[in-house]
Amino acid sequence: MIWDLYQQWKIEHIDRESRRASENSRRADSTASSYASRTEQMALAMEAVWSLLKEKHNLTDLDLIQKMHEIDLQDGVKDGKTNGVAISCLGCGQKINTRMKKCIYCDTENSRYSPFVG
Ligand SMILES: [Zn+2]
Repeated sequence: MIWDLYQQWKIEHIDRESRRASENSRRADSTASSYASRTEQMALAMEAVWSLLKEKHNLTDLDLIQKMHEIDLQDGVKDGKTNGVAISCLGCGQKINTRMKKCIYCDTENSRYSPFVG
């Protein structure tokens, strides 16, 4: 009798866990889909901006690629990402990154802050 109750409790527990995992998976799928959609929107906007810049300023795709390489290498690593650059804080001299708006040591505004660094 006690064994049966224990087994029943165990089955119900596993059932709840299964439903919870299924719900978490559904939420993760929805979040991933939302990010994919947002990324596609950003790519479209970026392409439109780049198209306007090319037309207005007589730039080429090669100019864009060269600038991307230049920015990629600012952190010393060619990895297709922009990670910011370590600089010295003007307030306290500590090393901070260009992705920080303010120095984490002395709260001085970062004059080289870049909103494009993730
Ligand atoms: Zn500082």
